[in-house]
This record gives sequence, structure tokens and C-alpha cells, in this order.
Amino acid sequence: MKVSNINIFLKDNKQFIYSIVLMIVIPSVIIFNTWLFSQSLKNTVDQSLRDKAVGVSQSINISLANSLSSPEELQKYVDNWKKFSANQELIDEKYEDDVIALDILYRDNDSFKLIASFDKDKIGQSYDSMAYVIAWNSNWPSAQKIIDHSNNNYYWMVVSPMKDSLGDKQALLVMTISANAIDTALSIALTNSYLVLIFSVIAIILLLLANSRLFEHALLYQKIKEIDQMKDEFISMASHELRTPVTVIRGYILMLIEDSKRLAITSEALEYLNTIKISTERLGSLIEDLLNVSRIEQGRMKNDSHPIDVYPIVEGVTNQFLIQAKEKNISLTCTKENLESSIVNIDKDRLEQVLVNIIGNAIKYTPSGNVDVKVRSKNNSLFILVKDSGIGMTAKEREHLFEKFYRIKNSKTNDIIGTGLGLWITKQIVELMNGSISVDSMEGAGSLFTIEFPLVKEEKKER
Ligand code: ADP
Repeated sequence: MKVSNINIFLKDNKQFIYSIVLMIVIPSVIIFNTWLFSQSLKNTVDQSLRDKAVGVSQSINISLANSLSSPEELQKYVDNWKKFSANQELIDEKYEDDVIALDILYRDNDSFKLIASFDKDKIGQSYDSMAYVIAWNSNWPSAQKIIDHSNNNYYWMVVSPMKDSLGDKQALLVMTISANAIDTALSIALTNSYLVLIFSVIAIILLLLANSRLFEHALLYQKIKEIDQMKDEFISMASHELRTPVTVIRGYILMLIEDSKRLAITSEALEYLNTIKISTERLGSLIEDLLNVSRIEQGRMKNDSHPIDVYPIVEGVTNQFLIQAKEKNISLTCTKENLESSIVNIDKDRLEQVLVNIIGNAIKYTPSGNVDVKVRSKNNSLFILVKDSGIGMTAKEREHLFEKFYRIKNSKTNDIIGTGLGLWITKQIVELMNGSISVDSMEGAGSLFTIEFPLVKEEKKER
């Protein structure tokens, strides 16, 4: 891959860079944290080992406070300690005494003379170590870390002045404590924490890899949204362009039908013209529905709401359907019921659109019988009820009724023309005007559509 290609790839795939950065940063932070933890653990262990050494040397001092003047007694004590450790090691293989050297020295002019020790061969030897002098003069135990580079072991050497029961300094206790046991435990703990570290880093890298796939999905989602928007724009543009020629065609067909006699159109041709008229009207309403869908989806649906008396509008739309109802032998009525007020904040054109669809459907899906439109008010709401004695629907069909393009398909609806968009558009418009729509229906018995709007309060109406 050329450098320019890599640059383009990185530019188009920012999520890739982001994932890589995360893959480096997060594990590094965890590794650094584990290292800090191991360092502080080592320091704590060192500190507690040193405290332990000082504590042991003080307790030895207390036990020997009365025997300090007798080198034999002191050697006996040291021997007993060594014997005890050896016995313990025989009983328990895992037992390992931390104290690996125990020396007691007397002050001898400028130096110190060994008078009791684990290593009897060294008894009588003189030492003039700086650490001994400091501990002797400071009156306090001093601890020193010694690293044996040959085997990488380290020890704590505690030098502590031994005082008799009167508090006078009599001897110097030099004890060497091995850090081996604790070092092994520490290295096991650290190995475990490094293992956990490796697993966490692997888990994080895998998670981030999965995450970068999520990014891809997000990108895909964005692309789908863009395509969806393009589709909406296309439908909107195509419907607009289709509307004009369809209106022209419909206009000329109507003219031909109306002027059929003058134009000497035969009855056979008139029949064909009527079929063309029905199909053109169907095409026209499909275009209108598509335009409405794209207006709603793009948030362009006009809503010029203001307080209006709703009853006359409902009555007016109902009357528009009287002829159609009569043709189907349907009794169509519009009545008020417990109507105290019917002032609602609403867009008149939109409400008419809703009513045309609901009352139109009631007539469309009622072979014969009744369609009753009622307007009533209760509490602070206005209800418009459209009840028909038509084909009705099952509870399952009712669940999908307000979905886009949903049409009930059965022998009773086969011959009825429609797009399945009307109720979806109706619901969107009703909700746009702060209302709600619901349906109650029974197959074979009819349906009841209820539209509810909040009533405008009296004082608002006056203003
Ligand atoms: P269209 O009538 O164009 O098919 P709608 O969205 O207006 O689309 O209605 C969706 C479906 O709901 C219709 O196809 C019809 O099956 C059913 N429907 C609507 N109104 C009624 C009604 N009053 N009675 C029975 N079925 C109805």
C-alpha cells in the first residue's frame, strides 16, 4: 500500500486510529499500574521484614538480660536456637528459619569480639564494622539490607545493643534474617498479578477489536440513514413531479366525460373513460399519500394550529360523504353528545384530512349498514367517535393497523382499493396536533375509531 493510500485509509477510518490508540493506551496504563503496585508491595514487605528483625532482636535481648556477662550462657542460648531450628526442619520439610546467623559480641577497645555464634569456629575473632559502632553508640537497633549478588538473595542484618536488667549496654547482638521465604511468596504474588495483567490486556485488545466492529456498524448505520434520506427526498421529488401530469390527465378525462355528448363519444368509449378516471383517481390518491408520508418523515407537515370550534368541521366532512353513503345504502349521521365545548387547538386542513380518512374508511369498509359520527366532550377532552357496522377486524389485525403500508388481506378486503398509508398518516397528524387515536373493533360486527384532543380552556378561548 502506498503512503498516500494509507493516508486516505486512515482519514476514512478514524475509528481504526482510535481503536489502535486505545489498544496501546489502556494496556500501557494497566502495565504501569501493576509495576507501581509491585514496587510498593516490595517496599512494604521490606519494611515489615525489617520490623520483624528488630522485634526478634529485642525479644532476645530481654531473654538474655540476666546472662549477658556469661559468654557460656550466651553460647548455650545461641546453640539452643540453632538446635530448635534444625529439629523443626526435621519435623517439617517446609520449615525454613528466617534467622540464618546469630552473633553476640563484646565491646573490646575499638573493636568488637565475637563471644557467641551459630558458627563456633569464628568465636574469639574481632570485628570493627561501622554498622556495629553506629548501633552501639546510638543505643538503638539498626537494620541494614545486604544483597548477595552470587545468588541474588537478600538479607536484613540487624545490629542491636544488648542491655542488662539495669539498662547498661553489655554486648552487641548481630542477627541476619533471610528474606528468601518472603521473597518466594512475593514473587508468586507478583507472577500471579502479571498473569492477570496479561489476561486483562488480551481481553481488552479483544474487546477493542470487537468495538472497532461496532464502529463499522455505526458507520454503516450512518450510511443507511443517508441513503434513507436520499430515498425520502427522491419519493418527495418524484411525487411532486407526478402530481402535475396526473392532475392534467384527470382534468381532461373529466372534461371528456362531461362533454361526451357534444364530442360524440360513444357509450363504449365512455365506459373506458370511466375506468381511466377511476385509475387516475387511484393514482392521484397514492401520490397524495406518498407526499404526505415524505412531508411527515421530513418534518415538513404544516401544522397551523389555533383554537377552532371542531363540531362544524366534523359535520361538514360527514356531509361530503352523504352521496357516497347513500350509493352504498349506508345511513350516515353526525350528532353531538354531551358537548359542552368543542374548541380545540387545531389545524383545520389537517383535521379535515384526518376525518376524510376515518369517515372514508368507515364507508369503504362497510358494505351496508350504519356509520355514526359523534362528537362529545368529557373532562378536559374532546372525543370524535366514528362507528361503523362494517367488516371489522380481529384483535391481531388491530395491533398492526397504524403501521405504514399495513392492509388487512382477506376475501372481504380483496376488492377494496387502498395503499395502507391512510391510518399511519392519520395517526401522525393527530399526534402532531397533541391528540391520540385508538380503535375498537370486532370481526364481522364493525369498528369504532376514537380521536381525542385536549379542549381549550374557556379563558384561553376568550383571548
Ligand atoms: P387503506 O384503506 O388505504 O388500505 P388505511 O391505512 O386507511 O389504508 O387502512 C389500513 C387498513 O385498515 C385497511 O386496509 C383496512 O383493512 C383496515 N381498516 C381501516 N379502517 C377500517 C374500518 N373502518 N373497518 C375495517 N377495516 C378498516
